Amino acid sequence: MGLLESKTFADLGLSPKVQAAVTAAGYSIPTPIQAAAIPVAITGRDVLGIAQTGTGKTASFVLPMIHRLESGRARARMPRSLILAPTRELAAQVAQSFEKYGVNHKLAVALLIGGVSMDEQVKKLDRGVDVLIATPGRLLDHFGRGRIMLMGVEILVIDEADRMLDMGFIPDIEKICKLLPPRRQTLFFSATMPPEITRLVNQFLKEPVRVEVAKPATTAKTITQRFIYCANGEDWSKRDTLRNMIRDGNVKNAIIFCNRKRDVAVLYKSLSKHGFNAGELHGDMDQGRRTETLERFRKGEIQLLAASDVAARGLDIPDVSHVFNFDLPWAADDYVHRIGRTGRAGREGFSASLVSPDDLKFVKDIEKVTGEGAVWLGDAPSEEDIADAGKRRRGRGGRSGSKSAPAPRGGRDREARNAPRSKPAGEQSEQRSERNERPARSERRPPAEQPTIAATPEPASAATAEGKPRRAPARSAPRQQERRADAWTDAPKPKSSHAKTARPAATESSRPEQAERKGGNNDRLGFAENVPAFMRRPARPLKVPGRG
Ligand code: AMP
Repeated sequence: MGLLESKTFADLGLSPKVQAAVTAAGYSIPTPIQAAAIPVAITGRDVLGIAQTGTGKTASFVLPMIHRLESGRARARMPRSLILAPTRELAAQVAQSFEKYGVNHKLAVALLIGGVSMDEQVKKLDRGVDVLIATPGRLLDHFGRGRIMLMGVEILVIDEADRMLDMGFIPDIEKICKLLPPRRQTLFFSATMPPEITRLVNQFLKEPVRVEVAKPATTAKTITQRFIYCANGEDWSKRDTLRNMIRDGNVKNAIIFCNRKRDVAVLYKSLSKHGFNAGELHGDMDQGRRTETLERFRKGEIQLLAASDVAARGLDIPDVSHVFNFDLPWAADDYVHRIGRTGRAGREGFSASLVSPDDLKFVKDIEKVTGEGAVWLGDAPSEEDIADAGKRRRGRGGRSGSKSAPAPRGGRDREARNAPRSKPAGEQSEQRSERNERPARSERRPPAEQPTIAATPEPASAATAEGKPRRAPARSAPRQQERRADAWTDAPKPKSSHAKTARPAATESSRPEQAERKGGNNDRLGFAENVPAFMRRPARPLKVPGRG
């Protein structure tokens, strides 16, 4: 790693024109994935890159591609290279990278993705393109109509293969690979290597050089993570809590994640109604609106972006101060991806997750994946809350818990509240509907292969450490639970089992301004100055039933 870090772009063998573009883009030191992959890729060998978004992986295939495509000419309808990406946004981002790094070249790039008018792209294809970037379904659609011929492809890139697996694209990928000439270079990227992906690699790559980089440790170290227990569990109450946190929180800009498309829309409308500068991003929006919203968010014209996972996956939005989970994601690796939108490139970031009683069961999975115990703002869930969550129907957010829900106020909320989340008819979650109804990979993947933001066993950096007075350091889950149980003995006594019933309907924990009053005196806690007010409240470790 030390050796790789000391490399410069000039050491990687890239052409002068490509190097000049990299310099113009403001980069001087290649990231580890770039330092390892680029020298191999420019020779024409296959590369298996195991790397996540945020590691600089895009440039690790775009730069050698531009280098290799410098010589040669495109022919009508026969792209010289093909990049497959799982989502439209990712594909569009890769296209932007070609603009950035291809300023000194005259490469023709076409983008085949859903939701945008294809006329212009088809015209480009007819004239001949050097690079075709596509989502698998779109590509097959155009191939089926005879608009593209794939036998001229010299370089194939498969980006975020494990995401493709999640979304049910593997059969499409197999089909496409079989349509390509066998004598081609394949650059294959995946954050993780579940068995299905290994099989694909064995089938379609030739003696690849395997390049593996860990998720950048800085991501975890610079994110202060907090959980807020919303005992009431109602959407209106969660929206209220969220608004207070935003008002309190020195929020420069934030992405607020919901699990369902329609909840994104509801939250967006609600935030706008309350005078916040908000936008929305979900899979039901047409591509034009998605791109425009994203661009406005990037430029700072929109402060708060309500988003779903699929719409936001892999987005390169460099400077997000906060991530809010309006809903806790059902898959723990989505949590990692979501909070990875903040605290990037060594900056400080904050994430706050609202946890309803039904979502408590997902906290444990998240703790396992992050290797850190949840730190709660305000009232932590009681033993009974946690035990109840365990009794609730396992699976994706079943609402059929032992407790009946309190009467909701609004009609829409009633509908949302009473609807089971485990994908009943008519209640399509974006997580599922855009993933071809496959269960999330994290459900199938062995724990060892789960992406982790807590690879480092050390306590987090200053920002995190100061904000986590009672959190156990990142360790393996059992050890951590012990530590938390130990820590609990020093903490105030856990609530008795009847404490929960004594809680008012609109709970204090869902009213940060009240919790603030209760738990004020932030200075004595020694939190960092720039930690938002709502994060400076006393935090309690999660009480593990049957321990301590
Ligand atoms: P990626 O993993 O490709 O999504 O890239 C993550 C971010 O890192 C993007 O904002 C890139 O522009 C940026 N980036 C890529 N390469 C470098 C580099 N060598 N030095 C600094 N930043 C980079």
